[in-house]
Amino acid sequence: SLELSRKAQAVKPSSTLAITARAKELKLQGLDIVGFGAGEPDFNTPDNINDAAIRAIHDGFTKYTPVSGTEELKKAVCKKFKTFNNLEYGTNQIVISNGGKHSLTNIFEAILNLGDEVIIPSPYWLSYPEIVKLADGVPVFVRASKEQSYKVTAKQIEEACNEKTKALILNTPNNPTGMIYTRSELEAIAEVAIKNDIYVIADEMYENLVYGDSEQISIASLNDEIYKRTITCSGVSKSYAMTGWRIGYTGSSVEIAKLMNSIQSHQTSNANSIAQKAATEALNGTQETVFTMNNEFDKRRQYMVSRVAAMPLIDALTPQGAFYLFVDFSEVLTKVYKGAVIGTTDKLAEILINDFLVAVIPCGDFGFDDHVRLSYAISMQNIEKGLDRIEKFLKLL
Ligand code: PLP
Repeated sequence: SLELSRKAQAVKPSSTLAITARAKELKLQGLDIVGFGAGEPDFNTPDNINDAAIRAIHDGFTKYTPVSGTEELKKAVCKKFKTFNNLEYGTNQIVISNGGKHSLTNIFEAILNLGDEVIIPSPYWLSYPEIVKLADGVPVFVRASKEQSYKVTAKQIEEACNEKTKALILNTPNNPTGMIYTRSELEAIAEVAIKNDIYVIADEMYENLVYGDSEQISIASLNDEIYKRTITCSGVSKSYAMTGWRIGYTGSSVEIAKLMNSIQSHQTSNANSIAQKAATEALNGTQETVFTMNNEFDKRRQYMVSRVAAMPLIDALTPQGAFYLFVDFSEVLTKVYKGAVIGTTDKLAEILINDFLVAVIPCGDFGFDDHVRLSYAISMQNIEKGLDRIEKFLKLL
């Protein structure tokens, strides 16, 4: 028959990308849209990194590299893991991929068998359940309420574990909440993971974007037992404003690295050779630009937090990392606008973009349908303008 893949047809297209695309479309039509949808830094890739890529092209570094990445990039990743994360990995434990999403795909294809369950704390980054399902796994959601700062507890994970559980995804700093797990929270979760014999996928993509006195701790660094069962996942996309270059990496056991290498050898081969040179410079070169970007993000974060706190009907916890504010709109949803109850954040997002020219991310696809994600990876000027518009809307209700 001509029936298409049921698995592929069940995939939900990424709604964040759809909203960002719609905002861009309206902008092209000449409308002055403020887009709070951004999932990427608004800064350009730093020059030292760009220059390394240009050199690579001129030097003819434009051929296949080893599937799992160049030795020099793996060494740079090992050094970063050691100095930044207090994690000891050899180069044979590193796999360089085509971005964080690709690393996650490799991981789940390497560890899951049909029907294996993966615990996903909710709210979650919307790609996790889809990537798990594409690898024949079953997502199991555990809700982390606002009262618990949107962070799951070890007890909740313990309760969700059964003989089918294969892994837990732990994303810290978190997208969409900006929350960071503390050392003691991680210790308790690690204990449950060890006791129940499951893997931990530690997605630390936002590890460099940490503000105030919050501390980023890698769960794999806590002890040998949790190290063995953790796959630590990061990349250069968010930390170095390199989303378009597509470089991600993992640190894992040699055994899992080998499996991911085999999978990648048939699916994509090596990540782009030029981008690997650029990523090597990102990790080995000056980190000054990271600090400059972080300072700017931090200023915007503080401004957003104080503005939202002063608005009627909505509120948000202060994010500790990443570049998102996770805003509770539940009270707004009960209000009437233009004769109808607003009801859902999808409807709310539609009102905001059509009538107030502000694009926001409704978080139904992140597991929290009464919350909205506002990114502060946009200019301060746009943040001010966008928040003014949201405030104007709220005052009408
Ligand atoms: N992990 C999280 C939590 C993310 O938010 C993202 C990007 O939005 C990624 C991973 C993937 O990053 P990349 O662009 O390198 O695929």
